Amino acid sequence: MHFKSVIGQEKLKSRLIEEVKNDKVSHAQLFLGKPGYGTLPMALAFAQYLFCENKGEKDSCGECSSCLRVDKMEHPDLHFSFPTVQALSNTSDPFLSDWREQVIEMPYFNLNSWLKRIDPKERKPIISVHESQQIIKKLTLKAFEGGYKVMIIWMAEEMNPQCANKLLKIIEEPPAKTVFILVAESQDYILQTILSRTQKIIFPKIGCDDTIEYLKSKKGGAPSESIVSRSKGDLIEAQELFSENQGEDANNQLFIQLMRVCYKKNVLDMISWAEDITKTSKENQKQFLKYALHMFRQSILRNYTGDVITRVSEDEDAFLENFAKFITGNNIQSMTESFSDSVYYIERNANTKILFTNLCFQVMRHIHTG
Ligand SMILES: [Zn+2]
Repeated sequence: MHFKSVIGQEKLKSRLIEEVKNDKVSHAQLFLGKPGYGTLPMALAFAQYLFCENKGEKDSCGECSSCLRVDKMEHPDLHFSFPTVQALSNTSDPFLSDWREQVIEMPYFNLNSWLKRIDPKERKPIISVHESQQIIKKLTLKAFEGGYKVMIIWMAEEMNPQCANKLLKIIEEPPAKTVFILVAESQDYILQTILSRTQKIIFPKIGCDDTIEYLKSKKGGAPSESIVSRSKGDLIEAQELFSENQGEDANNQLFIQLMRVCYKKNVLDMISWAEDITKTSKENQKQFLKYALHMFRQSILRNYTGDVITRVSEDEDAFLENFAKFITGNNIQSMTESFSDSVYYIERNANTKILFTNLCFQVMRHIHTG
């Protein structure tokens, strides 16, 4: 992994690069922060930079044989330890191929998604004393390439005390050119004796602009402000919120546009709205119609109960504040019929361009009888 593939965290990147350039790499480091801040991707980029045979000023080359092997997670001097479900295996190695797949597919992940991948029963995973023996064994071997050996312990807070105690000595006095990178979300459960032997690097939240860029590149769409602010600089959280809301956000925009053009009786805009939605899949069209039905119900609820029992997002709420009054006892039934009839006809392969154009004219009539 390149440093440039790690989202944000520019200050930390420079700091780590300086360590390598000045030959002052601390032999035991603790990368502390939420997984969504990029602690593991940074550990991978750092390891790649250490191993790289042709280091640039700001990044590894990505082309030498060391870089290529780190990229494939196959470098013989890059070792990993991570929590496992003890009933399945008390050491990490049997899960290495799952681990490689996960990291290559999506290096931003948390313990939850790791657990889902390795155990359908989702039992609690830990790093046990058996694993500490493996760690010691691997690090006392000579480096295959004669350079650095790197051990990344992911979710180091999941080491149980027996495991942590067994590692104290090697973390304090590791063999030459050995670097421990402990990656942890919280230091509360890490033994004080381990903490005192590591150099702590605290990861800050990811900035708003970087979060937006990340979602655009991963999800192909711009997130709403509400998602960015609710994710609190955690890219994993941002991605989950975005996936949940992606459909709703798009439908919300379509709904607002439809209501506006119909209210203004702008026939040209109505036709172009109908053309746009016709280009989407039938599944999307049906979802939109159902979403619109939901918004009409919420409008009525809002009118008759205040906003006590409405179930809407912040964006929807802001729209409904002005819009709800246009949906009343006079038009709710006809409005509902127009939209549920449309679902019915789409399922029976109606010509959607005609259908949605008709729908626009119906909405225009209904909205002015509210
Ligand atoms: Zn390289």
